[in-house]
Amino acid sequence: MNSDSKLIRQAAKCPECGTPHHYVEVSFSFANDKGGWEVECRECRKRFTIRLKNPEESSAEGFRILRRFDDDNNDGQQSCAPAASEIVQYSLDINENKLRFDFGSEPIYRCTLSGADLEKAALAELEKHLPDVSQAFYNARNYMLASNVPDCEHAVIPVPVPCKCGSTHKATFYFPLRLNDTPMPEPRQMLLADVEGSSLDEELTGIFSKTFLMGALEKLTARWRLKFDQIVIASPFIAHQYMSKANKLAVWEWLLGIFDPRRTLFITRSSSYKDYKSALLESGLNHDMLVSFGLESQIVGAGTKKQDFHAKVYIGLGDTCEILSGSANLVPGKSLENATFGFAERKRVETRYLEPLGATLPQALPRASHHLAITYDGTKWRADASEGPSPI
Ligand SMILES: [Zn+2]
Ligand SMILES: [Zn+2]
Repeated sequence: MNSDSKLIRQAAKCPECGTPHHYVEVSFSFANDKGGWEVECRECRKRFTIRLKNPEESSAEGFRILRRFDDDNNDGQQSCAPAASEIVQYSLDINENKLRFDFGSEPIYRCTLSGADLEKAALAELEKHLPDVSQAFYNARNYMLASNVPDCEHAVIPVPVPCKCGSTHKATFYFPLRLNDTPMPEPRQMLLADVEGSSLDEELTGIFSKTFLMGALEKLTARWRLKFDQIVIASPFIAHQYMSKANKLAVWEWLLGIFDPRRTLFITRSSSYKDYKSALLESGLNHDMLVSFGLESQIVGAGTKKQDFHAKVYIGLGDTCEILSGSANLVPGKSLENATFGFAERKRVETRYLEPLGATLPQALPRASHHLAITYDGTKWRADASEGPSPI
């Protein structure tokens, strides 16, 4: 996609049942195609149409496009399905994905033998291999655009990282795979999900600044979004009472921007949630209108709102779960906090963490059946669809 394009987030309601459908419309600074989509309602399965610019380049979130049509192609392909009943555009990106991996901050992945920072080393290796990686990626994507391929959500790149300990660590980078002409992200914009030969329980157990722990939570989120189906975030306070409404909203936006709303269960005190709603109102947004279009972040909407808890725990949920817990609330700051990182079986997490909080997990959405693996055999790079949503 060229740099003159703008992404506009929209929601359209099904004319039959009123269910909101979110999508991103692409707008170019000149030469926009006019047209639309015939789609299937994700709730009642009836067909309806959404009119939009650039139907080829725009993308749907969580519903099926049955057909894309362009007004200039007079091929009689206009749809006879009814039009969406209402469409709203939203400028406050409460659901926009803002997750980044900050390679400049204190690492959470270090060599257990030499103590070397494996995050910067991994980035340097990826940058070294970049021309070959990107060639393998574009070849594979061209092939995928032209033929029927299995469903892939992510492109995943395992990168060998030589280390002064004498062994070679394997770092796993990834990024969301888009089957359009979006360029491959720069290495720094990719997410790092794991480095073998490091130890998170060693690095994330102890006393740390809250700033470090919030950075670590972002890095764990990058890891968990590839590795696990769901994430649980439990914290009694989001921001703190002495912050201005604008600052509170900024903390909420940061949080809602880094978690995938479809896969995150959010548990907070109802007073914290009320704060969020009043901050939203103050910023000029009507909360009920947001709810009616499903624009209120699903994360906050779905969370249990327990009043009487003080626990802070962040969990990546899989067969074997990863748990970061300690004294840090979700607020940036310099205070020193204690933290512990550990692993537990799913069943144990349910009885020890979720049940006491009164939290019941919604069924995890199915994940993509495959991922695009971009791999190195020691001489050359290649990219192929590989089974499972993630290699780690
Ligand atoms: Zn419907
Ligand atoms: Zn090493």
